[in-house]
Amino acid sequence: MLAGQVATAEVADVAWHPAKPRIGDVAWVHVRNVPESAAVEGSVGGRPLAFFPYAGGYAALVGLDLQAKPGAHPWRLAVIERGHEPRTARGRVQVLRRDFPVERLQLPPAMVELDPETERRAATEATRLQTLYRTLTPERLWRGRFTRPVAGTETPTGFGARRIINGHARAPHGGVDFSAPTGTPVVAANSGRVALVEEFFFPGRLVVLDHGLGLYTLYFHLDSVAVAEGQRIERGQTLGTVGATGRATGPHLHFGAQVRGARVDPTTLLRLDVLD
Ligand SMILES: [Zn+2]
Repeated sequence: MLAGQVATAEVADVAWHPAKPRIGDVAWVHVRNVPESAAVEGSVGGRPLAFFPYAGGYAALVGLDLQAKPGAHPWRLAVIERGHEPRTARGRVQVLRRDFPVERLQLPPAMVELDPETERRAATEATRLQTLYRTLTPERLWRGRFTRPVAGTETPTGFGARRIINGHARAPHGGVDFSAPTGTPVVAANSGRVALVEEFFFPGRLVVLDHGLGLYTLYFHLDSVAVAEGQRIERGQTLGTVGATGRATGPHLHFGAQVRGARVDPTTLLRLDVLD
């Protein structure tokens, strides 16, 4: 439980789940025995954490970006209580390496070599998404288990794949792909609010859900969309249907997750053991 920590000082009761997360994981840190009247602040590797009350203490999701470095990541915490000196703790969490596959794809040149106007469009759209993913809604909108967005038992693939398209290295694949026929329902992985409905060049028709505290889930290449921006969503609610819009070689759902701007493996979100 306390693996990888050097000096936890008097805050002491800090547990990492898992104890040794991997690159690309959604991990979480649990600070126990903290009164609800207190506030908890902290960071890992300089990235701020957003804590919420949980099981007699506080918890925060930690996103380990797919291009973060393995090794010891320093963390620090402060418990702030009215009428007390802030209690602080620091330590290191060991982040394990993970090897990602290399995928070589051949695509029609027209899908890869963009004219300057399309290049600008794609860059503007990417910036809009990055800005959204870094926007912090200060309340937690999700509860309990996350559910897969497409029914079935197939294990989705491709997270972190280093893609070489027509011989040129491209950005690593930031999510997983569920292959499914056009028209298959796509459902919300957890409760939240619809943060974005758009039609962008690479992601095609898309929905982004804001689950609060910096957690977002992403649903790309949709054929149809059944929700509107600002709408409150329950876990399992239909968002739209699988399609092949944007840059897609066939119908599939691209499912992604972001924790405060870190691109994480959404299948680790599906296994998250925060139970409340
Ligand atoms: Zn994908």
